Amino acid sequence: ELEDVRGNITFKKVEFSYDGKRKALNGIDLTINAGATVALVGHTGSGKSTIANLICRFYDATAGTIEIDDIPIKDLKLDSLRQKVSIVLQDTFIFSGTIMENIRFGRPDATDDEVEHAAEAVGAHLFINKLKDGYHTEVEERGNVLSVGERQLLSFARALLADPRILILDEATASIDTETEVNIQKALKTLLAGRTAIIVAHRLSTIRESDTIIVLDHGNIVEQGSHDEL
Ligand code: ATP
Ligand code: MG
Repeated sequence: ELEDVRGNITFKKVEFSYDGKRKALNGIDLTINAGATVALVGHTGSGKSTIANLICRFYDATAGTIEIDDIPIKDLKLDSLRQKVSIVLQDTFIFSGTIMENIRFGRPDATDDEVEHAAEAVGAHLFINKLKDGYHTEVEERGNVLSVGERQLLSFARALLADPRILILDEATASIDTETEVNIQKALKTLLAGRTAIIVAHRLSTIRESDTIIVLDHGNIVEQGSHDEL
C-alpha cells in the first residue's frame, strides 16, 4: 500500500471533536494536489493544528474521510502512513543525543555522509561545524545549546533525510532575526521541492510563497485562494 504515493490529499466532509461536544472541525472539504504547498491560516483555535493532526492520524476524524491518493488513511497501516507523511512541529523535537543522532531520527539506516548532505542542503552545516564537537556534539532535550532558528534548521535536515512525499509543518511563532529568517526561508524551499506540503503558517514570507492559502475560522474554511487572489 502507498508504494507509488503521489501525495494528493482529499478531505471529504471531515468533522472532528476532541471532547465529543465542541467541533474543532466542522465539515471540511479540501483537495490538495500532489506537489502543492498549502498555507493554513486563521485565528488561534480555528483548527489549523487539528487538520495537521488528522493527516498524521494522531486522531481519527469523527465523521467524513481523509484520503491520500484516493485511499482513505483509515485503511492504511500506521507505519506506512508515517513513512510517507512527516511532521515538523512548532516546538521542534530535540532529544538527548548527538546532532547526528537527532538528524538521523526517522531514517536510522542513513549513513554519516547522508546526514551531512541533508544538513548541508538546508544550510545547517555551518552552525553544526562551529559546535564544540561538530556533528558529535551532545544536545539536551531542553538544552539551550541551540537557538530557535538552529533547531528549526535541524528539524528541516531531519525531514529532508526522511524524504516524505507529504510534509506537514507547524511553523514556529517565536521571533527570529532577519538573517535567520532568510536562511530558514531558503531551507524551506529546498525542503518543499517535489513534495506536497501543508504549512500552519505564521510568517508572511511563507504565506506569500504558498500556492494556496486556506483561511480557517471556528473549524470552517472561510476563504481559499492564492496570495494574489485573496
Ligand atoms: P493555534 O493558532 O493557537 O495553534 P489552531 O488553529 O492550531 O490554533 P487547534 O489546535 O486546531 O487550533 O484547535 C481547534 C480547537 O480545538 C480549539 O477550540 C482548541 O481549544 C481545541 N483543542 C485543540 N487541541 C485540543 C486538545 N488536545 N484537547 C481538547 N481540545 C483541543
Ligand atoms: Mg496550532
